[in-house]
Amino acid sequence: MTAANGSHKRPATDACEPRTSKKRMAHDMPGLEGSLTAAIHGDTSMIEEGSVQAALLSTHADIAPPLSVSTTFEAPVEKGRGHIYSRETNPTRARCEQLLGAIMSAPGAPAHAILYSSGLAAAFAVLSHLRPRRVAITGGYHGTHAVLAQLKHIAFDDGYEKLPLMQPAEVAASALQKGDVLWLETPNNPTCEVADVAAYVTAAKARGIRVVVDSTFAPPPLQNPLHLGADVVMHATTKYLAGHSDALGGALCVVDEAMANAFMKARTTLGSVPGSLEPWLLMRSLRTLHLRVERQANTATRLVQWLNSSMADASHELHGLVHKVYHPSLESNSPLHDVAVKQMPGGFGGCFAVELSSEFVAQHLPQSLSLFRDATSLGGVESLIEWRRKHDATISPLLLRVSIGLEDFEHLRADLLAGILRLSNEVVSK
Ligand SMILES: *Cc1c(COP(=O)(O)O)cnc(C)c1O
Repeated sequence: MTAANGSHKRPATDACEPRTSKKRMAHDMPGLEGSLTAAIHGDTSMIEEGSVQAALLSTHADIAPPLSVSTTFEAPVEKGRGHIYSRETNPTRARCEQLLGAIMSAPGAPAHAILYSSGLAAAFAVLSHLRPRRVAITGGYHGTHAVLAQLKHIAFDDGYEKLPLMQPAEVAASALQKGDVLWLETPNNPTCEVADVAAYVTAAKARGIRVVVDSTFAPPPLQNPLHLGADVVMHATTKYLAGHSDALGGALCVVDEAMANAFMKARTTLGSVPGSLEPWLLMRSLRTLHLRVERQANTATRLVQWLNSSMADASHELHGLVHKVYHPSLESNSPLHDVAVKQMPGGFGGCFAVELSSEFVAQHLPQSLSLFRDATSLGGVESLIEWRRKHDATISPLLLRVSIGLEDFEHLRADLLAGILRLSNEVVSK
């Protein structure tokens, strides 16, 4: 323990040994950023005791984070050393932001996380802050396009323009200029196409174009676009980060401290903050993020291999019933599979899409399964399946979007197999 950061209230006696070792963790164990350890300790023990941060996070002696519901706080003795009003900051949200920031950090590149009331509130926040004249974007989540339309309605009528996303090599010759935005969603919704973040960043940086990545489909430990130079990473925390289908929320993650401060300032003004319960649930969920997401990605990849192999293998139980499978793990069906291998070191994600050979089977399968529930959203511990055409008329009527939960692979496989066979027999006997 160094004298500089020792608390004057706690003399360095033997009785204080545990405190001392906590400090050692912060100062002598570099490289915890973004690790499993960060998910457990990133909100407390990496923080200097007696610091402003420690005061704001209200860590006290609780092992589990308390849920703070107060909207207002007694005026701090010293400016900046306490909370004032919860639209600005509160202990639960601040602690959750500290934790998510630690998870999104890389050694030498500490990240800041700013939480919002939903994923789309976060999308609105980043676009309204950057105020691009042009946004290059491809399909992806339909709600993001609704946010863009809303921005146009509010303020951007004169000049803001939506362009189809070009290839990285085409950025230089495109209409994009300094201050414009490349909006990447990778893997994207629902067909899990991958965008080469590093290649877009290289092309964009040279021209002052901002790269924003909606990384909702692949949280850490699968990928972290901040490590690839993205300016902003957006997450619908509603999905994998909260992971239990019980907490709506969004997050913006950045390395640039000035941008983080600007986001905080705008959020305080606009009031797009989550309350306390959702960040508290999110914090609890982040402790197990790595375990959940690795398992979900692993099970999804095995199911994808099984479904995909039915097409070429005449002896497969589903031969002839599956038309196409979409997942970054597939070399054959995923155009940027080699990029996915580089960019997603932790695995290819727990969501995939499958087109069945029959529209009837595709449309009715979600209602006929026992374990998979017919619901929208993704990233929770329970497996969900959805006939995506219901929400988006541009999507093939053969396509199902699948989000894999934490059930056993064999049970999920058996459920899909029985459901597809039963409905396919109905089609034949009609
Ligand atoms: C769900 C989702 C969003 C929106 O998040 P909400 O919390 O529902 O507002 C944005 N992008 C992607 C890829 C999503 O899946």
